[in-house]
Amino acid sequence: MSRVYLAMGTNLGDRMLNLAHALTLLPPAVKLLRCSRVYETPPWGYLDQPDFLNMAIEGETTLEPLMLLDWLKLLEEKIGRKKSERYGPRLIDLDILFFDDLQMQSERLEIPHPRLAERAFVLVPLADLVPDLVHPVAHATIRELLAKVDRSGIAAVTADEDTTPGDVGLALQNHPSALDRYLRLPPSHQREYLKHIQEAHKSATRQRRIAWMIDRLTEEGNLP
Ligand code: ADP
Ligand code: MG
Repeated sequence: MSRVYLAMGTNLGDRMLNLAHALTLLPPAVKLLRCSRVYETPPWGYLDQPDFLNMAIEGETTLEPLMLLDWLKLLEEKIGRKKSERYGPRLIDLDILFFDDLQMQSERLEIPHPRLAERAFVLVPLADLVPDLVHPVAHATIRELLAKVDRSGIAAVTADEDTTPGDVGLALQNHPSALDRYLRLPPSHQREYLKHIQEAHKSATRQRRIAWMIDRLTEEGNLP
Protein backbone atom coordinates (compact mmCIF):
# COMPACT_ATOMS: atom_id res chain seq x y z
CA MET A 1 0.00 0.00 0.00
CA SER A 2 1.40 3.41 -0.97
CA ARG A 3 0.57 6.83 0.41
CA VAL A 4 -0.18 9.34 -2.35
CA TYR A 5 -0.83 13.06 -2.54
CA LEU A 6 -2.71 14.44 -5.52
CA ALA A 7 -3.38 18.01 -6.61
CA MET A 8 -6.60 19.02 -8.36
CA GLY A 9 -7.31 22.21 -10.27
CA THR A 10 -10.22 23.54 -12.33
CA ASN A 11 -11.09 26.89 -13.91
CA LEU A 12 -13.95 26.19 -16.30
CA GLY A 13 -17.67 25.58 -15.81
CA ASP A 14 -19.01 24.82 -12.34
CA ARG A 15 -15.64 24.50 -10.64
CA MET A 16 -16.84 23.19 -7.27
CA LEU A 17 -18.94 20.60 -9.08
CA ASN A 18 -15.92 19.52 -11.13
CA LEU A 19 -13.94 18.90 -7.93
CA ALA A 20 -16.80 16.97 -6.33
CA HIS A 21 -17.26 14.92 -9.49
CA ALA A 22 -13.57 14.02 -9.74
CA LEU A 23 -13.57 12.98 -6.09
CA THR A 24 -16.36 10.47 -6.76
CA LEU A 25 -14.51 8.96 -9.72
CA LEU A 26 -11.15 8.19 -8.18
CA PRO A 27 -9.85 4.72 -9.09
CA PRO A 28 -11.34 1.92 -6.95
CA ALA A 29 -7.77 1.08 -5.95
CA VAL A 30 -7.36 4.54 -4.44
CA LYS A 31 -8.79 5.03 -0.99
CA LEU A 32 -9.53 8.69 -0.26
CA LEU A 33 -8.29 9.53 3.23
CA ARG A 34 -8.31 13.33 3.65
CA CYS A 35 -9.02 16.49 1.67
CA SER A 36 -7.52 19.96 2.02
CA ARG A 37 -9.67 23.06 1.96
CA VAL A 38 -10.55 24.42 -1.48
CA TYR A 39 -8.68 27.59 -2.52
CA GLU A 40 -9.35 30.15 -5.20
CA THR A 41 -6.10 31.02 -6.93
CA PRO A 42 -5.07 33.41 -9.70
CA PRO A 43 -3.99 31.76 -12.97
CA TRP A 44 -0.35 30.90 -13.42
CA GLY A 45 1.71 30.74 -16.60
CA TYR A 46 -0.87 31.83 -19.14
CA LEU A 47 -2.54 34.71 -17.26
CA ASP A 48 -5.52 35.66 -19.43
CA GLN A 49 -7.91 33.00 -18.12
CA PRO A 50 -10.39 32.57 -15.22
CA ASP A 51 -9.29 31.96 -11.63
CA PHE A 52 -8.79 28.38 -10.50
CA LEU A 53 -10.09 26.35 -7.63
CA ASN A 54 -7.34 24.14 -6.24
CA MET A 55 -7.21 21.47 -3.59
CA ALA A 56 -5.05 18.55 -2.50
CA ILE A 57 -5.97 15.09 -1.30
CA GLU A 58 -4.30 12.30 0.62
CA GLY A 59 -4.97 8.71 -0.39
CA GLU A 60 -3.76 5.16 -0.22
CA THR A 61 -3.30 2.99 -3.27
CA THR A 62 -2.19 -0.44 -4.43
CA LEU A 63 -1.69 0.87 -7.99
CA GLU A 64 1.70 1.33 -9.57
CA PRO A 65 2.52 5.00 -10.35
CA LEU A 66 2.00 4.71 -14.13
CA MET A 67 -1.30 2.87 -13.65
CA LEU A 68 -2.41 5.69 -11.37
CA LEU A 69 -1.44 8.27 -14.01
CA ASP A 70 -3.42 6.38 -16.69
CA TRP A 71 -6.47 6.35 -14.40
CA LEU A 72 -6.20 10.05 -13.69
CA LYS A 73 -5.96 10.85 -17.42
CA LEU A 74 -9.10 8.74 -18.06
CA LEU A 75 -10.84 10.52 -15.22
CA GLU A 76 -9.97 13.91 -16.74
CA GLU A 77 -11.57 12.77 -19.99
CA LYS A 78 -14.68 11.46 -18.24
CA ILE A 79 -15.19 14.84 -16.61
CA GLY A 80 -14.86 16.37 -20.04
CA ARG A 81 -11.36 17.75 -20.30
CA LYS A 82 -10.34 18.28 -23.91
CA LYS A 83 -6.75 18.37 -25.00
CA SER A 84 -5.75 22.02 -24.81
CA GLU A 85 -2.75 24.18 -24.31
CA ARG A 86 -0.55 23.46 -21.36
CA TYR A 87 -1.26 25.79 -18.43
CA GLY A 88 -4.44 26.87 -20.27
CA PRO A 89 -8.03 26.71 -18.96
CA ARG A 90 -9.33 23.27 -18.03
CA LEU A 91 -12.32 21.50 -16.50
CA ILE A 92 -10.10 19.40 -14.33
CA ASP A 93 -6.38 18.77 -13.90
CA LEU A 94 -5.10 15.97 -11.72
CA ASP A 95 -1.44 15.74 -10.80
CA ILE A 96 0.50 13.26 -8.73
CA LEU A 97 2.56 15.21 -6.18
CA PHE A 98 4.13 12.49 -4.04
CA PHE A 99 4.03 8.71 -4.10
CA ASP A 100 5.54 7.48 -0.83
CA ASP A 101 9.08 8.85 -1.00
CA LEU A 102 9.53 7.58 -4.53
CA GLN A 103 11.69 9.50 -7.00
CA MET A 104 11.15 8.70 -10.66
CA GLN A 105 11.68 10.44 -13.96
CA SER A 106 10.25 9.04 -17.15
CA GLU A 107 8.88 10.71 -20.22
CA ARG A 108 5.29 10.41 -19.03
CA LEU A 109 5.69 10.72 -15.31
CA GLU A 110 7.90 12.59 -12.88
CA ILE A 111 7.58 12.09 -9.13
CA PRO A 112 7.68 14.22 -7.04
CA HIS A 113 5.82 16.54 -9.39
CA PRO A 114 8.62 18.68 -10.91
CA ARG A 115 6.97 22.08 -10.39
CA LEU A 116 5.33 21.61 -7.03
CA ALA A 117 7.99 23.42 -5.00
CA GLU A 118 7.46 26.67 -6.90
CA ARG A 119 3.65 26.61 -7.07
CA ALA A 120 1.86 28.31 -4.20
CA PHE A 121 -1.47 26.99 -5.51
CA VAL A 122 -0.19 23.46 -4.82
CA LEU A 123 1.77 24.14 -1.62
CA VAL A 124 -1.02 26.04 0.16
CA PRO A 125 -3.57 23.18 -0.01
CA LEU A 126 -0.87 20.58 0.63
CA ALA A 127 0.14 22.43 3.81
CA ASP A 128 -3.41 21.83 5.14
CA LEU A 129 -2.67 18.11 5.02
CA VAL A 130 1.06 17.61 5.62
CA PRO A 131 2.95 20.82 6.56
CA ASP A 132 5.84 18.79 7.96
CA LEU A 133 6.25 16.34 5.11
CA VAL A 134 9.80 16.51 3.76
CA HIS A 135 10.16 16.86 -0.01
CA PRO A 136 12.53 13.99 -0.88
CA VAL A 137 14.44 16.00 -3.50
CA ALA A 138 14.35 19.55 -2.09
CA HIS A 139 15.00 18.22 1.45
CA ALA A 140 12.66 20.86 2.85
CA THR A 141 9.23 20.64 4.45
CA ILE A 142 6.08 21.85 2.71
CA ARG A 143 5.93 24.68 5.25
CA GLU A 144 9.50 25.74 4.41
CA LEU A 145 8.84 25.59 0.67
CA LEU A 146 5.68 27.63 1.16
CA ALA A 147 7.61 30.36 2.98
CA LYS A 148 9.64 30.94 -0.20
CA VAL A 149 6.80 31.44 -2.69
CA ASP A 150 4.39 34.29 -3.34
CA ARG A 151 0.99 33.25 -2.02
CA SER A 152 -0.80 36.55 -2.70
CA GLY A 153 -4.27 36.28 -4.18
CA ILE A 154 -4.85 32.77 -2.78
CA ALA A 155 -7.87 32.48 -0.48
CA ALA A 156 -9.71 29.54 1.07
CA VAL A 157 -13.29 29.23 -0.17
CA THR A 158 -14.32 26.34 2.11
CA ALA A 159 -14.38 27.05 5.83
CA ASP A 160 -12.38 24.16 7.30
CA GLU A 161 -11.32 20.63 6.56
CA ASP A 162 -14.82 19.33 7.38
CA THR A 163 -16.67 21.11 4.60
CA THR A 164 -15.24 19.61 1.47
CA PRO A 165 -16.46 18.61 -1.98
CA GLY A 166 -14.86 15.25 -1.06
CA ASP A 167 -17.68 14.32 1.32
CA VAL A 168 -19.79 12.70 -1.42
CA GLY A 169 -16.81 10.62 -2.56
CA LEU A 170 -16.13 9.56 1.02
CA ALA A 171 -19.79 8.58 1.54
CA LEU A 172 -19.84 6.53 -1.67
CA GLN A 173 -16.57 4.87 -0.69
CA ASN A 174 -18.27 3.65 2.50
CA HIS A 175 -21.28 2.27 0.59
CA PRO A 176 -19.98 -0.07 -2.11
CA SER A 177 -23.36 -1.01 -3.60
CA ALA A 178 -24.32 2.67 -3.96
CA LEU A 179 -20.92 3.40 -5.49
CA ASP A 180 -21.32 0.51 -7.90
CA ARG A 181 -24.67 1.89 -9.09
CA TYR A 182 -23.34 5.47 -9.24
CA LEU A 183 -20.42 4.44 -11.43
CA ARG A 184 -22.84 2.94 -13.97
CA LEU A 185 -24.70 6.23 -14.41
CA PRO A 186 -23.82 8.52 -17.31
CA PRO A 187 -21.65 11.47 -16.18
CA SER A 188 -24.52 13.93 -16.76
CA HIS A 189 -26.73 11.96 -14.37
CA GLN A 190 -23.93 11.76 -11.79
CA ARG A 191 -23.63 15.54 -11.99
CA GLU A 192 -27.35 16.01 -11.36
CA TYR A 193 -27.00 14.25 -8.03
CA LEU A 194 -23.92 16.31 -7.16
CA LYS A 195 -25.60 19.55 -8.19
CA HIS A 196 -28.59 18.87 -5.94
CA ILE A 197 -26.20 18.26 -3.03
CA GLN A 198 -24.16 21.34 -3.82
CA GLU A 199 -27.23 23.58 -3.89
CA ALA A 200 -27.79 22.90 -0.16
CA HIS A 201 -26.80 26.01 1.79
CA LYS A 202 -26.63 24.48 5.26
CA SER A 203 -24.24 21.71 6.15
CA ALA A 204 -27.06 19.67 7.75
CA THR A 205 -29.10 19.88 4.53
CA ARG A 206 -26.07 18.81 2.55
CA GLN A 207 -25.54 15.78 4.78
CA ARG A 208 -29.23 14.85 4.44
CA ARG A 209 -29.02 15.07 0.67
CA ILE A 210 -25.91 12.89 0.59
CA ALA A 211 -27.67 10.28 2.75
CA TRP A 212 -30.70 10.48 0.43
CA MET A 213 -28.51 9.89 -2.61
CA ILE A 214 -26.83 6.89 -0.97
CA ASP A 215 -30.25 5.42 -0.07
CA ARG A 216 -31.61 5.91 -3.54
CA LEU A 217 -28.58 4.40 -5.24
CA THR A 218 -28.55 1.46 -2.83
CA GLU A 219 -32.24 0.75 -3.50
CA GLU A 220 -31.75 0.98 -7.26
CA GLY A 221 -28.75 -1.31 -6.96
CA ASN A 222 -30.96 -3.91 -5.28
CA LEU A 223 -33.62 -3.94 -8.02
CA PRO A 224 -33.73 -7.22 -9.93
P1 ADP B 1 0.09 20.36 -16.31
O1 ADP B 1 -0.51 19.47 -15.26
O2 ADP B 1 1.58 20.44 -16.20
O3 ADP B 1 -0.56 21.71 -16.36
P2 ADP B 1 -1.04 18.41 -18.16
O4 ADP B 1 -2.05 18.05 -17.15
O5 ADP B 1 -1.51 18.63 -19.56
O6 ADP B 1 -0.22 19.72 -17.74
O7 ADP B 1 0.07 17.30 -18.09
C1 ADP B 1 0.97 17.08 -19.10
C2 ADP B 1 1.67 15.74 -18.89
O8 ADP B 1 2.47 15.76 -17.73
C3 ADP B 1 0.77 14.54 -18.62
O9 ADP B 1 0.27 13.98 -19.81
C4 ADP B 1 1.71 13.57 -17.90
O10 ADP B 1 2.18 12.53 -18.76
C5 ADP B 1 2.87 14.44 -17.48
N1 ADP B 1 3.28 14.29 -16.09
C6 ADP B 1 4.56 14.18 -15.67
N2 ADP B 1 4.65 14.06 -14.34
C7 ADP B 1 3.37 14.11 -13.86
C8 ADP B 1 2.81 14.01 -12.55
N3 ADP B 1 3.57 13.88 -11.45
N4 ADP B 1 1.45 14.08 -12.44
C9 ADP B 1 0.68 14.24 -13.54
N5 ADP B 1 1.14 14.31 -14.81
C10 ADP B 1 2.49 14.26 -14.97
MG1 MG C 1 -1.70 17.69 -15.11
